[in-house]
Amino acid sequence: RDNERNSPFIIVSVPYENLNTIILQRWGTLWLIVLLIALLTLIASSWVAQTIIRPVYTLRDTAVRLAQGDFSHRIKVTSNDEIAEVAHAFNEMAQQVESMLEEQKAFASNTSHELRTPLTSIRLRSEALRYETLDPETEQSYIEDIDNEVIRMTTLIEDLTLLSRFDAKRAELGQSEIDIVRLAHSLTQRLEAQASAKSIRITFTADETLDPIISSMNHIQIVFRNILDNAIKYTGNDGQIDWQMRPHEKGILSTIRDNGEGIEAENLQHLFERFYRVDQSRSRTIQGTGLGLPLVKSILDAYGAWIKIESEGKNKGTVVTIYIPSRK
Ligand code: ATP
Ligand code: MG
Repeated sequence: RDNERNSPFIIVSVPYENLNTIILQRWGTLWLIVLLIALLTLIASSWVAQTIIRPVYTLRDTAVRLAQGDFSHRIKVTSNDEIAEVAHAFNEMAQQVESMLEEQKAFASNTSHELRTPLTSIRLRSEALRYETLDPETEQSYIEDIDNEVIRMTTLIEDLTLLSRFDAKRAELGQSEIDIVRLAHSLTQRLEAQASAKSIRITFTADETLDPIISSMNHIQIVFRNILDNAIKYTGNDGQIDWQMRPHEKGILSTIRDNGEGIEAENLQHLFERFYRVDQSRSRTIQGTGLGLPLVKSILDAYGAWIKIESEGKNKGTVVTIYIPSRK
Protein backbone atom coordinates (compact mmCIF):
# COMPACT_ATOMS: atom_id res chain seq x y z
CA ARG A 1 0.00 0.00 0.00
CA ASP A 2 2.91 2.28 0.77
CA ASN A 3 4.23 1.67 -2.66
CA GLU A 4 0.96 2.62 -4.14
CA ARG A 5 0.78 5.86 -2.24
CA ASN A 6 4.24 6.94 -3.42
CA SER A 7 3.81 6.13 -7.10
CA PRO A 8 4.02 9.27 -9.36
CA PHE A 9 0.60 9.02 -11.00
CA ILE A 10 -1.99 11.70 -11.21
CA ILE A 11 -5.39 10.55 -11.91
CA VAL A 12 -7.36 13.07 -13.86
CA SER A 13 -10.97 12.50 -14.34
CA VAL A 14 -13.20 14.32 -16.69
CA PRO A 15 -16.88 13.80 -16.66
CA TYR A 16 -17.78 11.49 -19.50
CA GLU A 17 -20.70 13.59 -20.81
CA ASN A 18 -18.52 16.69 -21.26
CA LEU A 19 -16.00 14.78 -23.36
CA ASN A 20 -18.72 13.51 -25.60
CA THR A 21 -19.98 17.00 -26.44
CA ILE A 22 -16.44 18.20 -27.13
CA ILE A 23 -15.82 15.34 -29.57
CA LEU A 24 -19.14 15.96 -31.23
CA GLN A 25 -18.34 19.67 -31.56
CA ARG A 26 -14.97 18.88 -33.13
CA TRP A 27 -16.58 16.51 -35.58
CA GLY A 28 -19.12 19.13 -36.49
CA THR A 29 -16.45 21.75 -37.18
CA LEU A 30 -14.49 19.23 -39.21
CA TRP A 31 -17.49 18.35 -41.33
CA LEU A 32 -18.27 22.01 -41.81
CA ILE A 33 -14.73 22.61 -43.05
CA VAL A 34 -14.93 19.58 -45.34
CA LEU A 35 -18.23 20.81 -46.72
CA LEU A 36 -16.85 24.29 -47.21
CA ILE A 37 -13.83 22.92 -49.07
CA ALA A 38 -16.09 20.74 -51.20
CA LEU A 39 -18.25 23.73 -52.01
CA LEU A 40 -15.25 25.88 -52.87
CA THR A 41 -13.87 23.10 -55.08
CA LEU A 42 -17.21 22.85 -56.82
CA ILE A 43 -17.31 26.59 -57.41
CA ALA A 44 -13.69 26.65 -58.57
CA SER A 45 -14.13 23.70 -60.90
CA SER A 46 -17.28 25.09 -62.44
CA TRP A 47 -15.46 28.39 -62.93
CA VAL A 48 -12.61 26.54 -64.66
CA ALA A 49 -15.18 24.67 -66.73
CA GLN A 50 -16.90 27.91 -67.66
CA THR A 51 -13.80 29.82 -68.61
CA ILE A 52 -11.49 27.16 -69.99
CA ILE A 53 -13.10 23.84 -70.70
CA ARG A 54 -16.37 25.11 -72.24
CA PRO A 55 -14.58 27.29 -74.82
CA VAL A 56 -12.28 24.36 -75.62
CA TYR A 57 -15.34 22.18 -76.19
CA THR A 58 -16.91 24.88 -78.37
CA LEU A 59 -13.67 24.99 -80.32
CA ARG A 60 -13.76 21.22 -80.74
CA ASP A 61 -17.41 21.24 -81.81
CA THR A 62 -16.72 23.95 -84.37
CA ALA A 63 -13.76 21.97 -85.70
CA VAL A 64 -16.02 18.95 -86.09
CA ARG A 65 -18.63 21.02 -87.96
CA LEU A 66 -15.90 22.43 -90.18
CA ALA A 67 -14.66 18.93 -90.93
CA GLN A 68 -18.21 18.01 -91.90
CA GLY A 69 -18.27 20.83 -94.42
CA ASP A 70 -20.16 23.56 -92.54
CA PHE A 71 -17.83 26.51 -93.04
CA SER A 72 -20.36 29.16 -92.16
CA HIS A 73 -20.13 28.48 -88.42
CA ARG A 74 -18.16 30.93 -86.24
CA ILE A 75 -17.18 30.88 -82.57
CA LYS A 76 -18.62 33.68 -80.41
CA VAL A 77 -15.70 35.36 -78.68
CA THR A 78 -16.66 36.87 -75.30
CA SER A 79 -13.46 36.80 -73.26
CA ASN A 80 -10.12 38.42 -73.86
CA ASP A 81 -7.63 35.67 -73.02
CA GLU A 82 -5.50 33.11 -74.86
CA ILE A 83 -8.56 30.99 -75.65
CA ALA A 84 -10.14 34.04 -77.29
CA GLU A 85 -7.00 34.44 -79.40
CA VAL A 86 -7.27 30.81 -80.54
CA ALA A 87 -10.97 31.35 -81.30
CA HIS A 88 -10.15 34.46 -83.34
CA ALA A 89 -7.51 32.56 -85.33
CA PHE A 90 -10.00 29.75 -85.80
CA ASN A 91 -12.71 32.09 -87.11
CA GLU A 92 -10.25 33.68 -89.48
CA MET A 93 -9.25 30.28 -90.82
CA ALA A 94 -12.91 29.29 -91.31
CA GLN A 95 -13.50 32.59 -93.12
CA GLN A 96 -10.57 31.97 -95.45
CA VAL A 97 -11.55 28.39 -96.19
CA GLU A 98 -15.13 29.51 -96.85
CA SER A 99 -14.13 32.22 -99.31
CA MET A 100 -11.61 29.92 -101.01
CA LEU A 101 -14.32 27.32 -101.48
CA GLU A 102 -16.74 29.91 -102.83
CA GLU A 103 -14.08 31.16 -105.23
CA GLN A 104 -13.47 27.62 -106.43
CA LYS A 105 -17.16 26.94 -106.89
CA ALA A 106 -17.55 30.13 -108.90
CA PHE A 107 -14.46 29.25 -110.90
CA ALA A 108 -15.77 25.79 -111.75
CA SER A 109 -19.19 27.09 -112.76
CA ASN A 110 -17.67 29.92 -114.83
CA THR A 111 -15.34 27.47 -116.54
CA SER A 112 -18.11 25.08 -117.48
CA HIS A 113 -20.25 27.98 -118.69
CA GLU A 114 -17.41 29.36 -120.82
CA LEU A 115 -16.85 25.93 -122.36
CA ARG A 116 -20.51 25.20 -122.91
CA THR A 117 -21.22 28.40 -124.84
CA PRO A 118 -18.85 27.71 -127.76
CA LEU A 119 -19.86 24.05 -127.77
CA THR A 120 -23.52 24.96 -128.15
CA SER A 121 -22.71 27.30 -130.97
CA ILE A 122 -20.56 24.67 -132.72
CA ARG A 123 -23.32 22.10 -132.38
CA LEU A 124 -25.99 24.42 -133.82
CA ARG A 125 -23.81 25.27 -136.82
CA SER A 126 -22.74 21.68 -137.49
CA GLU A 127 -26.36 20.47 -137.31
CA ALA A 128 -27.42 23.17 -139.73
CA LEU A 129 -24.60 22.21 -142.10
CA ARG A 130 -25.59 18.60 -141.88
CA TYR A 131 -29.38 18.67 -142.12
CA GLU A 132 -30.28 21.93 -143.82
CA THR A 133 -29.78 23.05 -147.36
CA LEU A 134 -27.83 26.26 -147.08
CA ASP A 135 -26.56 28.64 -149.71
CA PRO A 136 -22.77 28.44 -150.16
CA GLU A 137 -22.22 31.82 -148.49
CA THR A 138 -24.02 30.84 -145.25
CA GLU A 139 -22.26 27.50 -145.34
CA GLN A 140 -18.89 29.24 -145.52
CA SER A 141 -19.75 31.62 -142.71
CA TYR A 142 -20.90 28.72 -140.49
CA ILE A 143 -17.63 26.90 -141.08
CA GLU A 144 -15.76 30.07 -140.16
CA ASP A 145 -17.87 30.42 -136.99
CA ILE A 146 -17.01 26.86 -136.01
CA ASP A 147 -13.34 27.55 -136.64
CA ASN A 148 -13.45 30.66 -134.46
CA GLU A 149 -15.23 28.89 -131.62
CA VAL A 150 -12.65 26.09 -131.71
CA ILE A 151 -9.87 28.67 -131.51
CA ARG A 152 -11.65 30.36 -128.60
CA MET A 153 -12.00 27.08 -126.74
CA THR A 154 -8.40 26.15 -127.36
CA THR A 155 -7.19 29.50 -126.02
CA LEU A 156 -9.46 29.16 -123.01
CA ILE A 157 -8.16 25.69 -122.21
CA GLU A 158 -4.55 26.80 -122.70
CA ASP A 159 -5.10 29.79 -120.39
CA LEU A 160 -6.75 27.59 -117.76
CA THR A 161 -3.99 25.00 -117.91
CA LEU A 162 -1.28 27.63 -117.54
CA LEU A 163 -3.15 29.36 -114.73
CA SER A 164 -3.55 26.15 -112.76
CA ARG A 165 0.12 25.37 -113.30
CA PHE A 166 1.11 28.75 -111.86
CA ASP A 167 -1.39 28.24 -109.02
CA ALA A 168 0.22 24.96 -108.09
CA LYS A 169 3.68 26.53 -108.53
CA ARG A 170 4.39 23.86 -111.11
CA ALA A 171 5.06 26.22 -114.00
CA GLU A 172 8.63 26.04 -115.18
CA LEU A 173 10.24 29.47 -115.12
CA GLY A 174 12.29 30.05 -118.23
CA GLN A 175 15.98 30.91 -118.12
CA SER A 176 16.42 32.35 -121.61
CA GLU A 177 17.98 35.74 -122.19
CA ILE A 178 15.32 37.78 -123.92
CA ASP A 179 15.99 40.87 -125.99
CA ILE A 180 12.85 42.68 -124.95
CA VAL A 181 13.10 45.38 -127.64
CA ARG A 182 13.21 42.78 -130.39
CA LEU A 183 10.30 40.96 -128.83
CA ALA A 184 8.31 44.23 -128.73
CA HIS A 185 8.98 44.91 -132.41
CA SER A 186 7.90 41.44 -133.44
CA LEU A 187 4.75 41.58 -131.27
CA THR A 188 3.63 44.96 -132.62
CA GLN A 189 4.19 43.66 -136.14
CA ARG A 190 2.08 40.60 -135.46
CA LEU A 191 -0.75 42.69 -134.04
CA GLU A 192 -0.57 45.19 -136.89
CA ALA A 193 -3.44 43.55 -138.82
CA GLN A 194 -5.74 43.50 -135.77
CA ALA A 195 -4.94 47.17 -135.04
CA SER A 196 -5.23 48.48 -138.56
CA ALA A 197 -8.64 46.81 -138.94
CA LYS A 198 -9.78 49.45 -136.44
CA SER A 199 -7.36 52.10 -137.78
CA ILE A 200 -5.50 52.08 -134.48
CA ARG A 201 -1.89 53.27 -134.54
CA ILE A 202 0.69 51.52 -132.35
CA THR A 203 3.99 53.24 -131.64
CA PHE A 204 6.92 51.76 -129.77
CA THR A 205 9.86 53.64 -128.27
CA ALA A 206 12.68 52.22 -126.16
CA ASP A 207 15.96 53.18 -124.64
CA GLU A 208 18.50 51.31 -126.72
CA THR A 209 20.55 50.30 -123.67
CA LEU A 210 18.00 47.91 -122.20
CA ASP A 211 19.47 44.82 -120.56
CA PRO A 212 18.02 41.47 -121.62
CA ILE A 213 15.66 39.84 -119.13
CA ILE A 214 15.90 36.24 -117.96
CA SER A 215 12.59 34.55 -118.53
CA SER A 216 10.61 32.26 -120.79
CA MET A 217 9.89 33.67 -124.25
CA ASN A 218 6.45 32.08 -124.16
CA HIS A 219 5.51 33.62 -120.79
CA ILE A 220 6.72 37.12 -121.69
CA GLN A 221 4.89 36.95 -125.00
CA ILE A 222 1.67 35.94 -123.25
CA VAL A 223 2.03 38.94 -120.92
CA PHE A 224 2.54 41.61 -123.58
CA ARG A 225 0.22 40.04 -126.13
CA ASN A 226 -2.63 40.14 -123.59
CA ILE A 227 -2.00 43.76 -122.64
CA LEU A 228 -1.74 44.87 -126.28
CA ASP A 229 -4.77 42.78 -127.22
CA ASN A 230 -6.76 44.56 -124.47
CA ALA A 231 -5.51 47.96 -125.61
CA ILE A 232 -6.69 47.22 -129.16
CA LYS A 233 -10.00 45.62 -128.11
CA TYR A 234 -11.01 48.35 -125.70
CA THR A 235 -10.00 51.31 -127.86
CA GLY A 236 -12.36 52.68 -130.48
CA ASN A 237 -11.61 53.28 -134.13
CA ASP A 238 -8.79 55.71 -134.96
CA GLY A 239 -7.30 55.23 -131.51
CA GLN A 240 -3.69 55.44 -130.46
CA ILE A 241 -1.52 53.05 -128.46
CA ASP A 242 1.89 54.18 -127.17
CA TRP A 243 4.32 51.62 -125.83
CA GLN A 244 7.43 52.82 -124.04
CA MET A 245 10.23 50.92 -122.38
CA ARG A 246 13.04 52.14 -120.17
CA PRO A 247 15.52 50.78 -117.62
CA HIS A 248 14.32 50.84 -114.00
CA GLU A 249 15.84 49.39 -110.80
CA LYS A 250 17.89 46.57 -112.37
CA GLY A 251 15.12 45.74 -114.77
CA ILE A 252 12.81 47.23 -117.36
CA LEU A 253 9.71 49.37 -117.00
CA SER A 254 7.14 49.05 -119.77
CA THR A 255 4.25 51.47 -120.18
CA ILE A 256 1.41 50.76 -122.59
CA ARG A 257 -0.94 53.70 -122.89
CA ASP A 258 -4.16 53.74 -124.92
CA ASN A 259 -6.77 56.43 -125.46
CA GLY A 260 -9.67 54.00 -125.42
CA GLU A 261 -12.73 53.43 -123.28
CA GLY A 262 -10.86 53.54 -119.96
CA ILE A 263 -11.91 51.91 -116.70
CA GLU A 264 -13.91 53.47 -113.87
CA ALA A 265 -12.26 53.57 -110.45
CA GLU A 266 -14.59 51.04 -108.79
CA ASN A 267 -13.79 48.43 -111.46
CA LEU A 268 -10.01 48.77 -111.34
CA GLN A 269 -9.68 46.64 -108.19
CA HIS A 270 -11.43 43.64 -109.79
CA LEU A 271 -9.39 43.42 -112.99
CA PHE A 272 -7.23 40.53 -111.74
CA GLU A 273 -10.17 38.37 -110.67
CA ARG A 274 -10.78 35.35 -112.87
CA PHE A 275 -13.55 35.78 -115.46
CA TYR A 276 -14.06 39.40 -114.43
CA ARG A 277 -15.08 41.68 -117.29
CA VAL A 278 -16.09 45.29 -116.69
CA ASP A 279 -19.25 45.28 -118.74
CA GLN A 280 -20.66 41.77 -119.07
CA SER A 281 -23.44 42.73 -121.49
CA ARG A 282 -21.34 44.97 -123.69
CA SER A 283 -18.53 42.42 -123.50
CA ARG A 284 -20.58 40.09 -125.67
CA THR A 285 -19.75 42.22 -128.67
CA ILE A 286 -16.07 42.25 -127.71
CA GLN A 287 -14.86 38.68 -127.36
CA GLY A 288 -13.03 37.59 -124.27
CA THR A 289 -13.33 35.48 -121.15
CA GLY A 290 -11.74 37.64 -118.46
CA LEU A 291 -8.78 35.34 -117.94
CA GLY A 292 -6.18 37.51 -119.69
CA LEU A 293 -5.23 39.80 -116.81
CA PRO A 294 -5.34 37.09 -114.08
CA LEU A 295 -2.95 35.01 -116.18
CA VAL A 296 -0.67 38.00 -116.79
CA LYS A 297 -0.56 38.66 -113.04
CA SER A 298 0.20 35.01 -112.17
CA ILE A 299 3.09 34.96 -114.63
CA LEU A 300 4.53 38.28 -113.44
CA ASP A 301 4.23 37.28 -109.76
CA ALA A 302 6.21 34.12 -110.43
CA TYR A 303 9.06 36.14 -111.95
CA GLY A 304 9.16 38.73 -109.16
CA ALA A 305 7.69 41.30 -111.56
CA TRP A 306 4.64 43.55 -111.07
CA ILE A 307 1.82 45.19 -112.99
CA LYS A 308 -0.19 48.35 -112.33
CA ILE A 309 -3.30 49.42 -114.26
CA GLU A 310 -4.47 53.01 -114.09
CA SER A 311 -7.27 54.93 -115.73
CA GLU A 312 -8.78 58.31 -115.05
CA GLY A 313 -12.24 56.99 -115.83
CA LYS A 314 -14.67 56.26 -118.62
CA ASN A 315 -13.32 57.21 -122.06
CA LYS A 316 -10.15 58.60 -120.48
CA GLY A 317 -7.88 55.80 -121.71
CA THR A 318 -5.83 53.27 -119.76
CA VAL A 319 -2.18 53.03 -118.73
CA VAL A 320 -0.64 49.63 -117.99
CA THR A 321 2.76 49.71 -116.31
CA ILE A 322 4.82 46.53 -115.98
CA TYR A 323 8.16 46.12 -114.22
CA ILE A 324 10.30 43.05 -114.93
CA PRO A 325 13.63 42.49 -113.16
CA SER A 326 16.55 41.68 -115.47
CA ARG A 327 17.65 38.80 -113.28
CA LYS A 328 15.77 36.79 -110.70
P1 ATP B 1 -9.55 37.65 -122.34
O1 ATP B 1 -8.34 38.50 -122.12
O2 ATP B 1 -9.61 36.49 -121.45
O3 ATP B 1 -9.80 37.33 -123.75
P2 ATP B 1 -10.84 40.04 -121.41
O4 ATP B 1 -9.98 40.88 -122.29
O5 ATP B 1 -12.24 40.47 -121.23
O6 ATP B 1 -10.84 38.54 -121.91
P3 ATP B 1 -8.98 40.65 -119.30
O7 ATP B 1 -7.88 40.82 -120.27
O8 ATP B 1 -8.67 39.93 -118.04
O9 ATP B 1 -10.22 39.91 -119.95
O10 ATP B 1 -9.55 42.08 -118.93
C1 ATP B 1 -10.59 42.20 -117.99
C2 ATP B 1 -11.46 43.40 -118.26
O11 ATP B 1 -10.72 44.58 -118.02
C3 ATP B 1 -11.90 43.52 -119.70
O12 ATP B 1 -13.07 42.79 -119.95
C4 ATP B 1 -12.14 45.01 -119.83
O13 ATP B 1 -13.41 45.32 -119.36
C5 ATP B 1 -11.11 45.61 -118.88
N1 ATP B 1 -9.92 46.11 -119.60
C6 ATP B 1 -8.74 45.49 -119.71
N2 ATP B 1 -7.85 46.23 -120.41
C7 ATP B 1 -8.49 47.37 -120.74
C8 ATP B 1 -8.13 48.55 -121.47
N3 ATP B 1 -6.91 48.71 -122.01
N4 ATP B 1 -9.07 49.52 -121.60
C9 ATP B 1 -10.30 49.36 -121.06
N5 ATP B 1 -10.71 48.28 -120.37
C10 ATP B 1 -9.82 47.29 -120.21
MG1 MG C 1 -7.85 40.44 -122.37
